[in-house]
Amino acid sequence: MKFTDFNFKDYINQTLENIKFEKPTEVQEKLIPIVLSGRDLVGESKTGSGKTHTFLLPIFQKIDTDLDEVQAVITAPSRELATQIYKAAQEFTKVNDKLRVSNFVGGTDKARQIKKLESSQPHVVIGTPGRIHDLIKANALIVHTANTFVVDEADMTLDMGFLNEVEQIASRLPEKLQFLVFSATIPEKLRPFLRKYMENPIIEEIKTKAVISEDIENWLISTKGKDENQMIYQMLT
Ligand code: AMP
Repeated sequence: MKFTDFNFKDYINQTLENIKFEKPTEVQEKLIPIVLSGRDLVGESKTGSGKTHTFLLPIFQKIDTDLDEVQAVITAPSRELATQIYKAAQEFTKVNDKLRVSNFVGGTDKARQIKKLESSQPHVVIGTPGRIHDLIKANALIVHTANTFVVDEADMTLDMGFLNEVEQIASRLPEKLQFLVFSATIPEKLRPFLRKYMENPIIEEIKTKAVISEDIENWLISTKGKDENQMIYQMLT
């Protein structure tokens, strides 16, 4: 299967060419048609499977850039994860300058974000649940126009205690909404939330080989108060 088989808009195909995605991953091939169909979906899949583009591509396909309103909201449980999604989304805004995507995470200038939202709303909102909720409470971010809500890394969102913030955001969204949840696991504590907000969702467990090579070792190293370049140099030498 090729990406062109999905009949995406030209700027989406152009972006996929730019970022050198030649064919969909297993997750993308299976789930993109479901997301495009408008059904609610719980995707049990790990990071590294290509799930970010599984929701980004159908979202961009649906966005009407002539409307100055929020059409999709995507939450992730950490600044880093939200920023990772945002960076993937920026590849599409590089090609389509009418498309507006914002990244709202903690530790950034909230007053400036509120000021900017007074003049225009982004089409796609990406961010951490806390900051997105803050901007909604401040009546700066208007989300009742959204038609898609994505909760990425739902199990981690629950573990980090952000599910309440996600529920607060969900309560501001319209009744008619496509709800997409991605999670490595579906813990028991997440189930009431899924039952409350999702309408007859398709639940897909994807056991897939990671896109990222299994041979790559991951090290977690604290860089607090240290010079990152110096540390990399030390490790390499
Ligand atoms: P994700 O699981 O969405 O974080 O994706 C893991 C990595 O795979 C990211 O670096 C993506 O840019 C990359 N990726 C996702 N889909 C594809 C694809 N169809 N072809 C090549 N790389 C991909």
